[in-house]
Amino acid sequence: MRLFPDLSRYALATLTVLVLTPIVVSAQDAPPQRPRPQETEVWQPVPPVVAPGTTDAAAPADALVLFDGTTLDEWVNSKDASPARWTVADGAMTVVKSVGNIQTKRSFRSYQLHIEWRIPVGITGKGQGRGNSGVFLASTGKGDAGYEIQVLDSYENETYVNGQAGSIYKQRIPLVNANRKPGEWQAFDIVWTAPTWKADGTLGSPAYVTAFHNGVLIHDHVALDGETVFIGKPSYKPYDRAPIMLQSHGDPSEPISFRNIWLRELK
Ligand code: MG
Repeated sequence: MRLFPDLSRYALATLTVLVLTPIVVSAQDAPPQRPRPQETEVWQPVPPVVAPGTTDAAAPADALVLFDGTTLDEWVNSKDASPARWTVADGAMTVVKSVGNIQTKRSFRSYQLHIEWRIPVGITGKGQGRGNSGVFLASTGKGDAGYEIQVLDSYENETYVNGQAGSIYKQRIPLVNANRKPGEWQAFDIVWTAPTWKADGTLGSPAYVTAFHNGVLIHDHVALDGETVFIGKPSYKPYDRAPIMLQSHGDPSEPISFRNIWLRELK
């Protein structure tokens, strides 16, 4: 039997206040934490390395050819929609850093895309600064707004795995690392299912990506959480149709090339 039940309750309440008060006060006094890019980096587990075979990349009869190696007629500079001014030589287009991103003149919803890219021999830098570019499957606004599948030299180049080549940037890690060496052409074959919106503008169904890197499956119909972002959490914003954009990342390392780009729209 307790002699002073009320007193002991009072003592407990007082003790609780005394213990918790300093925590509450110190949390209030701490400066607000700004989100940092490192908070959304994932480094483990590292996808296993798979040596790719050769791929058959010829455009099928019903494809829209976006780049056949000779002309940038289907492309414009993202900054101002003027004719795209990346260099075209030897059947490839190559990033010109001073020009910046380029994008398709046309806009798309869902599609199958084939695109080849090459990291130059003698690439320098490391991590995200080694051959960084990207294919924006839907470019939904200024700058790098949209949905990026990463282009990077990920052949024996460590970085956060949700940012390595083939990642859906900071959202989906590729199932394997099927990178070829710098200097060799590599291919993405991608099925992009655009997100849909309800009448009130909220999300109806998410975007889905299926992708092969050099013929090896790296994404098996994965649903996305929204647009890919450098800092913070992804979210969706409504769009109808969007161009495909190729990124000029602006690294000091040598420029990335693309070739043989074709697309089949999906109804
Ligand atoms: Mg990139």
